[in-house]
Amino acid sequence: MNNSMKDLISRAIQLLKEHEPQEGYYLAFSGGKDSCVIKKLAQLSRVKFDAWYNNTTIDPPELVRFIKQHHADVKWNQPRHGAMMARVAIKPSLPPTRSVRWCCSEYKEQGGKNRVKIVGVRAAESNARRKWKAISEDGNEDKIVCPIVDWSDDQVWQFIKEHAVLYCSLYDEGWTRLGCVGCPLAKKENQEREFARWPRYKVNWERAIKANWERHHSKPKRNGEPYYHAKFKTAEDLWQWWLTAKRPDYFRGDCQSMHHFTNEDLSDLQLELNWSGIKIDE
Ligand code: SF4
Repeated sequence: MNNSMKDLISRAIQLLKEHEPQEGYYLAFSGGKDSCVIKKLAQLSRVKFDAWYNNTTIDPPELVRFIKQHHADVKWNQPRHGAMMARVAIKPSLPPTRSVRWCCSEYKEQGGKNRVKIVGVRAAESNARRKWKAISEDGNEDKIVCPIVDWSDDQVWQFIKEHAVLYCSLYDEGWTRLGCVGCPLAKKENQEREFARWPRYKVNWERAIKANWERHHSKPKRNGEPYYHAKFKTAEDLWQWWLTAKRPDYFRGDCQSMHHFTNEDLSDLQLELNWSGIKIDE
């Protein structure tokens, strides 16, 4: 192990020891490689912690199996409203989009309130994450300790290899980030790749989104106004809009609620997935 790696590890351990709360840390564990590294660092630091996984119900099956097999000590936050696809089908709002991502708060940002958290966020991952520091705060002003915030990808992998940290097999297939399959925040090509790899998830998204239109397009809201769904003539139109980010032709000139959707090709936008379970880009 070279000196810079030794320094990184000892700084991370020092940080965890310095900020250890009496009741122990809440460690946000997604099953991804960064989560595995922060859990190992917490163990090496001998700080008290309990690790938690937020069950999104749409994570890749390989990832879920990995967590169950190799991290049986991790506790699960189960979603209050059941499976996400059932929620998409029933909830009286449009399916989650890049601008209206209600599912993150319901499925990925649970748990850890009023606790000091350890998260595996890294500044190198994206522009949005560059603002993160070793000690940050979440939306509830809870302290967040980020022991690998300044680690590069290579350093994460070096640590994994040198400490024989187990990781999900999907990385060996070339996946670099793991999380909700079909997430609307992912780049278009990534979403397509995910749907090609796990086609059942695409079927489920389509079913849920079409069921959502069936349920809400023709009945009025409590105030008598129609749901936004009524602007789509068919369930297929809503599904295609969600899938391709292209609104139907008959929407032209209709600017109402434009924040819900866009006709632009968003494939090259660097929108961020919330892998840590903590709000980072709002
Ligand atoms: S990561 Fe994407 S799909 Fe998962 S909860 Fe957040 S917005 Fe929804």
